Amino acid sequence: MGLKVKFKEPKMGRAAELITFLGFGEIRIGKRAPKARHHQLIVHEKRHWQQYKRTYWFHPLLYKFSKKYRQAAEVEAYKAEMLAADSEMFIYDAARWLARDYNLGITQAEAKVLLES
Ligand SMILES: [Zn+2]
Repeated sequence: MGLKVKFKEPKMGRAAELITFLGFGEIRIGKRAPKARHHQLIVHEKRHWQQYKRTYWFHPLLYKFSKKYRQAAEVEAYKAEMLAADSEMFIYDAARWLARDYNLGITQAEAKVLLES
């Protein structure tokens, strides 16, 4: 199954200015997300799509109920996104969002270490 990319108001995800949501076979990118970062967001969400398939569609349940799984899933997606980013400084944004937006109970410094590992 392929992925379609749609631009619409997001329901959840990365906070405020950069919000994406991955539904079944559909990447939704918030209208407020800067165009320059769309390709990164797509890389990020495609990685979550791989996680869906890899877990035989248990990904959403694991993601919701296991902090450990959610952290591993997001670290993987942000690492992929970092490779697609046009600035090495993106790791600081990624670490901030990871620490703030996913209820992981980690600091920004801890998030940065995870992204560098
Ligand atoms: Zn994500």
